[in-house]
Amino acid sequence: GPGDAAHTSWLELSAGALKHNVEVFRALEGRGGTSRSLGVVLKGNAYGHGLAQVLPLVHGLVDLLYFIAPQDALKVREYERAQGLSPRQVVVLGAVGPHEAVVLAREGVEVVVADRGWEDAVPVLRAAKLERPLRVHVHIDTGLGREGFTLEQIPRETQFLVDARDVLEVVGGLSHFANTEDVTEQGYALAQVDAFETGLRLLSGQLGEGRVLQRHIAASAAALVLPRARYEAQRVGISLYGLWPSAETRLSARLVLGEVPVLKPVLSWRCRSQVVKWLPADSYVGYGCTYRTSEPTRIAVLPVGYYDGYPRLASGKAHVLVNGRRCAVLGRVMMNHLIVDVTRATHDERPVTATLMGREGDESISAESLAGWAQTLHYEIVARLGAHLRRVVV
Ligand code: PLP
Repeated sequence: GPGDAAHTSWLELSAGALKHNVEVFRALEGRGGTSRSLGVVLKGNAYGHGLAQVLPLVHGLVDLLYFIAPQDALKVREYERAQGLSPRQVVVLGAVGPHEAVVLAREGVEVVVADRGWEDAVPVLRAAKLERPLRVHVHIDTGLGREGFTLEQIPRETQFLVDARDVLEVVGGLSHFANTEDVTEQGYALAQVDAFETGLRLLSGQLGEGRVLQRHIAASAAALVLPRARYEAQRVGISLYGLWPSAETRLSARLVLGEVPVLKPVLSWRCRSQVVKWLPADSYVGYGCTYRTSEPTRIAVLPVGYYDGYPRLASGKAHVLVNGRRCAVLGRVMMNHLIVDVTRATHDERPVTATLMGREGDESISAESLAGWAQTLHYEIVARLGAHLRRVVV
């Protein structure tokens, strides 16, 4: 089992939780929206969950897979060939170089054109004598101020796509919300939806009548609470991994859907302790001597630290679970160690198993809790989980 190897922690991925979350989004389809394609965002090593483990779990459940990096997207095609599976729609959201574009075109992977840098790829694609043009989605900046053409830039800046239709086939339009989390602030999101529709109209006019574009703007929050934004495809990240984008989205769900769907966190983080031992009263614990025991204290040393993605800012605040009990992290989080108080969680000095994130009985430690202790966002907590950590599907 994963607990056998000493000195490392491991991540457990629940296949059942992932399947459940997919079903939540499937059930939302058609409820006031028209979405037909459910997509999962697999960027950032599948939000830190591990692409190699998550890909086989989601491939048969969703219609569309989104990446940032071209090399990650190509792993889908490798996986499909190895398994004899038919190819899924794959979209690369991030930057692509001209030669990478040729490889993606041959592999039937789609890309996002977000700026005129793509003009450089046109002669390279032509020289490659492709059998079929590269399928592209045009990114419209509707108010995030990040990638994409602003409404002012369309159609002038997108004219090169018309001229390059032999190698670049526009099949979709996308955008990304700046603020769909806050229940009181849907006004901005709705203005973005309006801008999206205006941008798409301009684009369709330029590309020629009858062109049907796949529209995708909704990430988790909008897919959950803004039915008007569902369109043909949803681009869901955090919530397919079982986490709410924010507490406000959960509140909005109650208002918009009349109920709060249950999302199940896919990931748990566990480890086997190193030493368990008693320290006398008045002992210092950890670097900087920031913690001093007030009574005899049984401590466990855990082989987890900020190298693994456990945030150092959680020092002095965090808890872990041991035998279903909450145990305080004492002193500072170190590069490869955590020290926890297990006085009441165990009866002897044998090694213990600890849960850093996840559930044990009635107690649980969420990614949101860790983020709160570390004054950051749960997205960052999961995305920073070390790629080196062992990941097991349970
Ligand atoms: N689409 C784009 C362009 C993104 O950058 C992200 C994540 O930041 C997502 C979709 C998914 O967002 P979420 O994880 O909130 O569902």
